[in-house]
Formats: sequence, structure tokens, C-alpha cells
Amino acid sequence: MPREAVLPSPRSAVILAGGRGERMGGEKQFLDLAGKPLVLWSVETFLASGLFDETVLVLSPERIKSEGGRFAAMGLKLAPAGATRMESLRNGLSAVSPGAALIAVHDGARPLVSAALIKRCLAAAAESGAAVPGVPVKDTIKRADAKGEFAAATLPRSELTAVQTPQCYRRAALAALLEAADGGDYTDESQLLERAGLPVRLVKSDHSNIKVTTPEDLLIAEALMKSKTPGKKEKTVRFGFGYDIHRLAEGRPLILCGMKIPHSKGLLGHSDGDVVLHSVCDAALGAIAAGEIGIFFPPTDLTIMGISSVAIAEKTMEVLGKRGALIRQIDATIVAEEPKLKPHYDGLRKSLAAVFKMPVEDVSVKAKSREGLGDIGKGEAMACYAVVSVLA
Ligand code: MG
Repeated sequence: MPREAVLPSPRSAVILAGGRGERMGGEKQFLDLAGKPLVLWSVETFLASGLFDETVLVLSPERIKSEGGRFAAMGLKLAPAGATRMESLRNGLSAVSPGAALIAVHDGARPLVSAALIKRCLAAAAESGAAVPGVPVKDTIKRADAKGEFAAATLPRSELTAVQTPQCYRRAALAALLEAADGGDYTDESQLLERAGLPVRLVKSDHSNIKVTTPEDLLIAEALMKSKTPGKKEKTVRFGFGYDIHRLAEGRPLILCGMKIPHSKGLLGHSDGDVVLHSVCDAALGAIAAGEIGIFFPPTDLTIMGISSVAIAEKTMEVLGKRGALIRQIDATIVAEEPKLKPHYDGLRKSLAAVFKMPVEDVSVKAKSREGLGDIGKGEAMACYAVVSVLA
């Protein structure tokens, strides 16, 4: 077997997913494809390929606001989309580390890209400077007249190749490409290299690496996805349950859902003792059978003394992110005698939603008293029960 050439490193990927999707009546990158947002398929393929030191995801500024946290938790860098594809590409590239030796630019609307194709394109770019995947054109292509009413010419099919992404570049080729850009917009930036007389290698791809542009493409992509991953489990909603209790002590701040509640006592613990965040994190980890927060933050670890429980929530989201799991819904019940929490419901929900980067409509926080019974009833402790649903 021939030895595989070592690819230059570091390597960066830029996934463009900021298009307005006018032909699909909205942002197509977030349409559901076989149980998850379209863009997530290529994001996961790039991350799982292990071929890149960093992956930059270009999203509309609105999407960065609403979904950025989840993608950041998966380890992605984020960049805002511009008004044109070329502007989005520039924004994405400016987030790439300056030392990157090889850069892959992928269209987030091509969910069926494979790690094998990415690797072949990177290898060809390492050799030739720039490489794009392509397939022979299946249809006969005619050039229409100016009005689009009559055929003006038939193009020789054997000379035609339909190009796809990822388009891969050595850093110098990419610099030349950007240099050649003249303010125009291009659906395929590699043409700038051809115009500058620089080589662009064509890498043999297959017809399954389709671009989802119209509603029927989505159906085709879904069918292809199912045929490619026959035994693969579809994502399902899973549930997890969490419970926590902490003692109350005089002179400590009372932190619940990551926010401070005025009270003469606060919860005692290695961290800030936030029983809500602790029980919600345990429920989220439970939903994917990934243990509980004590595994990641053992009480014997002195470096966690006094940390904010928001850090524990961030770690939990990282664990979930690595499994491709998303929290869909949280329902938490705090058991406390004092203070009365009803006036804080809105604030607690908003704070909990902000910690887990979720819409507030999917987050519920409520409280019950213990009717004066037992340790909680006497105001010596506070507990919390949480149920979390996760798509995994
Ligand atoms: Mg705890």
C-alpha cells in the first residue's frame, strides 16, 4: 500500500451557513433534515473527521445571537455572514488563525459531504495549491438566448464539470484569490484563481454531495442520508432527572439559576451551591447517561472552591455538545421555605435560559414549600428537582 502523504498543518475549515435561502422561503441551513438542522450534518462531519485544527462557522448575525452558544459549545469559532457570499467568505477567513497552512471552504447547504472527500480535496490542494470537487454533468447543457426563449448553443458535455465544495486551498493560493477579488460576488470563489491563471485541481466526487437549494433537494437529501446510514440511530428525545440539596448558612449570597436572590442566608457548597443549576446539569447528563457533575467536578478538587456553577453548566453543555445532544426543555422545582420565590419566577427562568442558551419558553422554574416540615421546612436547607429533555 502506498504511504499516505502527510497533509500540511495547521488546517482550518470555514463552513458558510449565512445564506438567506430565498428559494426555500427562509434560512435553509436550519430546516430539519432527518432529525436535525441541515447545517449540523456538515458541521458534525467536519468535526468528526479529525482533519482540522479549527472550524469556523459563518452564520447570520441573528443566528449567532440565538444559536451561537450551542455551536460555540461544540468547539466552533463563529463569524457573521455578510451581504454577499464573498463578504461572508472574507468574514469567515478573517476568523481563521493566521498560521493556517490549508483551508477548506464548505457550503453548509451540502449536508452529505464525506470525510473521505474532504481529505482527498485537502491532499490535492496541498499538491496543487487549490482543489475543488466536481462531478461530470449528467444533463446536456444549452446556452439560451438573451431572452431565454431559444437555444443559442449546445455546450459539449464532455468538457463540463459541476463543481461542489469543500474547495480547498493552500494559504498562498487563498491570498492570491482574495487579491484577485474585484468586489463582485461569486457562487464559486475558485474561478478567481482560474482568471488569475493559477491552477485549480478538479477532484473526482460523486453525485450524492448535493446542494440543498430547493424544497425537492431536501427530500432527495433525506433519502440519500437514510440510504448512507442504514443502521444509524435516528435522534430521539431522551429524558433525564436530577436532584440536589444544599444547606443554608448565614452570611452567604443566595445564588439560584445563576442569579442572586436577596435573602439573609445562602447555600453552602464547594461552588456557589446553586441547587438549580446542579440538579439541571445532573438531569441533562442523565438524559445521555453521561454520569453526574461530581465526575467532572469532584468535591476533592480544591481548584473548584468558590467557582460559579455557571462553569459547571458550561462543562455540561460541552459534554452534551460532543455527543451532538441538545437540551430541548427544562422543568425545575425548587423546594424552599424561605424566601418566597414566586416574585422571582420570571427572573429565574430568564437567568436559567441564558445560562443554557435556550429560548425562555422552553424553561420552567417553580417553587414549593415544605409546610414547615423537616430540615427544609425549618429553613436549614434548599433542594431542587429537575427534569430535562434532550434531543440526542
Ligand atoms: Mg450540589
